[in-house]
Amino acid sequence: MSDGLKNIKDFTLNELTEWFMAEGQPAYRAKQCYKWIYSGVEDFSQMTDIPKNLREELSERFYISAPQIADKQISKDKTVKYLFRHRDGALTETVVMSYKYGLSACISTQVGCNMGCAFCASTLDGKERDLSAGEIIDQLIFASRDMGERISHVVLMGMGEPLDNYGNVLKFLSNVTNPIGLDFSGRNISLSTCGLADKIKMLADEKLQLTLSVSLHSAFDGKRSEIMPVNRRYNIATLLNAVRYYIEKTGRRVSFEYTLIDGKNDTPADAEKLASLLKGMLCHVNLIPVNNVREKNFKKSRNTEKFKEMLLKLGINATVRRELGSDIDAACGQLRRRHNK
Ligand code: SAH
Repeated sequence: MSDGLKNIKDFTLNELTEWFMAEGQPAYRAKQCYKWIYSGVEDFSQMTDIPKNLREELSERFYISAPQIADKQISKDKTVKYLFRHRDGALTETVVMSYKYGLSACISTQVGCNMGCAFCASTLDGKERDLSAGEIIDQLIFASRDMGERISHVVLMGMGEPLDNYGNVLKFLSNVTNPIGLDFSGRNISLSTCGLADKIKMLADEKLQLTLSVSLHSAFDGKRSEIMPVNRRYNIATLLNAVRYYIEKTGRRVSFEYTLIDGKNDTPADAEKLASLLKGMLCHVNLIPVNNVREKNFKKSRNTEKFKEMLLKLGINATVRRELGSDIDAACGQLRRRHNK
């Protein structure tokens, strides 16, 4: 790490092209190199269509990251949870789920998290550091390699707040959607945020074809501030204004995540308030049964179906998220915590 080398996966194709050109190389060399990186080579010497002296120069400036699998748990429903160890030893979690349409990975964007949501295990010790663009994309490359199957969908819903690591997440999005990168369709990517309203607006202006997921969890400011400290910075009205802006700019339907906690946010009054807030908006509500975190005492709601029915009756699109991997350390951050102890 003190070798001064840079992870080549932290660069976008444009940035690499600039580097090659500054070295007096033609732009197509950057493309050749980029193609090799995302076809999975682990060493510059394998980039056989690049002249040998240039390969040597590359290896004096860059490295190609390759995290280790520090732990792996497989659930009865075939959900696989990976704990990756990055170059400096930092640990992050990645979960791969099997759906009818293919494999979907839930990846992390930070080591830990600073957002402080009351029910979340990732934030218990705060944020250790941001993940770089390369470390974010490595989770897809190495989970897919280990499973021996292509991953077609990705959700930025693991550890960390993606919009609190905006620059690196944007570079990741560039590399994951680049046709000679991992070639994901923007429509197969979801980004989940706790509600950093200013960043939601910035993201809207990027006009990417992603699905934005917004963690709402309560339609009342008082309650939301209790379980999500970010609400004291961006209250519900400010957040929803940013979401409306996002919809207007991208034309994409937004998804709201609502974790149901027994006796906390699952009453008929909660459902009514939620419906009145979202009425007429191009959106969908994803109800999530709260996952129990050892250090916290939140219980799953007994009113999940009732809550959903109420929303539907009030004209709001809503579904309950299937629970996968409930027999492994499924709640974000739990596996890492066990290893750090
Ligand atoms: N920071 C982003 C993305 C990571 S969290 C965000 O807040 O959206 C991904 C989702 O999991 C969020 O909706 C979060 O509120 C939810 N979540 C976290 N811990 C949970 C738990 N113990 N049970 C259920 N959902 C949880």
